[in-house]
Amino acid sequence: LTAASGGGIVAYADSSRAEEAPEPPPRKKKVVVLGTGWAGTSFLKNLDSSRYEVKVISPRNYFAFTPLLPSVTCGTVEARSVVEPIRRMFEKKGKDVAYYEAECLKIDPTKKAVHCRSAVGTNLDGNGDFMLDYDYLVVALGAAVNTFNTPGVMEHCHFLKEVEDAQKIRKSVIDCFERASIPNISEEEKRKILHFVIIGGGPTGVEFAAELHDFLVEDLVKLYPAIEQFVKITIIQSGEHILNTFDQRIAVFAESKFQRDGIELSTGFRVIKVSDDSITVKCKSSGVETLVPYGMAIWSAGIGTRPVITDFMNQVGQGKRRALATNEWLRVPECDSVYAIGDCSSISQRKIMEDISTIFKVADKDNSGTLTLKEINDVLEDICIRYPQVELYMKSMHMVDIADLIKGGLGDSHKESMVVNIEEFKKAMCHVDSQVKTVPATAQVAAQQGYYLADCFNKKDHCTEHPEGPLRLTGSGEGHHNFRPFRYKHLGQFAPLGGEQAAAELPGDWVSMGHSTQWLWYSVYASKQVSWRTRVLVVSDWTRRFIFGRDSSR
Ligand code: FAD
Ligand code: MG
Ligand code: MG
Ligand code: MG
Ligand code: MG
Repeated sequence: LTAASGGGIVAYADSSRAEEAPEPPPRKKKVVVLGTGWAGTSFLKNLDSSRYEVKVISPRNYFAFTPLLPSVTCGTVEARSVVEPIRRMFEKKGKDVAYYEAECLKIDPTKKAVHCRSAVGTNLDGNGDFMLDYDYLVVALGAAVNTFNTPGVMEHCHFLKEVEDAQKIRKSVIDCFERASIPNISEEEKRKILHFVIIGGGPTGVEFAAELHDFLVEDLVKLYPAIEQFVKITIIQSGEHILNTFDQRIAVFAESKFQRDGIELSTGFRVIKVSDDSITVKCKSSGVETLVPYGMAIWSAGIGTRPVITDFMNQVGQGKRRALATNEWLRVPECDSVYAIGDCSSISQRKIMEDISTIFKVADKDNSGTLTLKEINDVLEDICIRYPQVELYMKSMHMVDIADLIKGGLGDSHKESMVVNIEEFKKAMCHVDSQVKTVPATAQVAAQQGYYLADCFNKKDHCTEHPEGPLRLTGSGEGHHNFRPFRYKHLGQFAPLGGEQAAAELPGDWVSMGHSTQWLWYSVYASKQVSWRTRVLVVSDWTRRFIFGRDSSR
């Protein structure tokens, strides 16, 4: 009896415990982040990591503040001052994140897993490879250098992409000066060794040229007075102007400053081959080829696709593209759970003409087959969110309201009674898509995309499974909880030009140039530092340079 009742009690107790036991918490979704550059760290900093099981893969265990890399090449700022250890970033923010110093070799979207290889050598089994599976993958792998398959570039040119590159450049510049100082070297040889060639006149190339010029005139000429006269800096640019992504006023200012500084600008030339002591350039207009002897060359002529991204694009049927395409919510359209941000990706903005019939139908609430001004105005906000090109187009054509776009130049009294059919609506909208803008490959874009995507992930619970979803306007889905598409906000850009001068393009079509702009640059870049530690280091590097000059040892 005792045994039986005991058993009964046990059984009863067991079942009551089972009833009282709280539901096991739902398994946290696994988020794997590839890359710890601008996009990846911005995502991680803003992600509520308690909601997810977060794993981060990157072969470098630090974040690099790339805008200061050109300053590292000449010792204006030390390499240590522009990097922040990734683990420290998480620890400081109290983030529950696992980091693995490894390289992602392959993304497998069908198995929802990534293949990785340890970046710190293999383990005891002789195998540092591992797999991680994910529920959501955030691809933030950045871009690779692009040599456009120009022969000799990989072997003979320096690049300026990573912190190590900047350190190598610094060493190599000093090497050239020491080599040219050895006795018994002919003048011709000295000129060759001290010819610094920068291939690519974009912001990075231009900033490096300016840094190098300052380093030469402020520090090196004092230390190497005998060879000063042989030094030359040349920028080779295939386009007609340097800094062609900037306002033309800035390009003109930069070009005339460089001319005064004696920096040679070879515009309209394309590099077709690089050997160990000369660069073959071709004049684009005449087709004539010339040999340019050089001592050191830096290639900063463009960015390309990393092999792991190319492989992934081939898997999902994006083989012909240069960057991984996402929709406006930064998701790879072919994969439910893969997002891509930063330089490795590009957003393909949906064209309004692709959806024009749907838009018309949704707007035409009374099914009259025509749209009144009121009907259009009711959906206008949704249209402008989904298709930012509409606003851009109206702005570019100096149109005040939608009636101007639809029926062009109507008098105020006619606007109210305006009616359009589908053909007229299509005709009005047919040029709008010409204003679709691509976002540039910059830190600013990468950081904003990371922030935006983290925000979507943090609010996922309140939304449908995917943060994006069609707005009320286009198609099905409960639009109200869904997110607005990513919208880039351009906060301006700087071009430091050396000699304590800089140029800046600021929001609202503002251009500012000269010494005061350089001070603006100092304050902006000090404030943009990711931690107080790096901020203090950078500012003290600048101060040290002002007082003592740059360090010219290797
Ligand atoms: P990245 O910052 O390049 O990060 C990529 C990350 O992926 C890195 O952590 C890398 O280690 C990691 N990674 C690479 N391969 C793998 C792999 N196989 N597996 C795992 N991880 C991998 N932009 C501006 O807006 N303003 C500026 O002034 C400016 N100056 C610049 C100066 C220089 C010299 C350079 C090179 C760039 C500059 N940029 C500037 C551009 C800016 O740095 C990039 O747009 C930005 O870094 C893009 O961020 P990202 O996260 O996409 O890529
Ligand atoms: Mg990144
Ligand atoms: Mg970076
Ligand atoms: Mg991009
Ligand atoms: Mg109607």
